[in-house]
Amino acid sequence: DSLTAVSVPACFDYALRLFQARLGEGAVEVIRDWPAAETWVRADPVRLEQVLVNLIGNSLQAMGDVPSPRLTLTIAPEEERVRIAVTDTGPGIAEDQLTRIFEPFFTTKSTGSGLGLGLSISARIIDDLGGRLEATNAPEGGARFTIVLPRAEGPE
Ligand code: ADP
Ligand code: MG
Repeated sequence: DSLTAVSVPACFDYALRLFQARLGEGAVEVIRDWPAAETWVRADPVRLEQVLVNLIGNSLQAMGDVPSPRLTLTIAPEEERVRIAVTDTGPGIAEDQLTRIFEPFFTTKSTGSGLGLGLSISARIIDDLGGRLEATNAPEGGARFTIVLPRAEGPE
């Protein structure tokens, strides 16, 4: 199959580069919350990058109006799997929408700015990779999306 050992920090760095124009201005504080040693998952790099781009894009949109926006990217390796999280300081997600946001075409954005497909596609991708994608609200109030994927030892 197309699954290989994929470096998670390299995927995050790839995704961040796509948003360089927005992030380069320095208005959004980006926190790389991950260990010095590289963490690897068993995945498909292009598809994992696509999911991270979707999540980071949503977070940046959600923080469009908040003061001192902060984007926290977390990599937490466990023995058999890795938790990868994107947390923002936007308004968060209403409790009754935490599952609906994964439905195709569900969007709260005004016409034209969101198709409502990003999260349904992302959840499908992570599912296909043998993992899962969860939405929660961070204790401080913003949204947190957590990907869990099988851990890999390192490059094959
Ligand atoms: P779209 O971005 O086109 O609206 P998505 O599938 O990416 O579609 O997201 C669906 C909905 O989930 C969004 O319209 C928004 O209501 C909610 N959502 C997603 N990410 C966030 C976030 N980081 N903070 C708050 N709400 C979010
Ligand atoms: Mg989206």
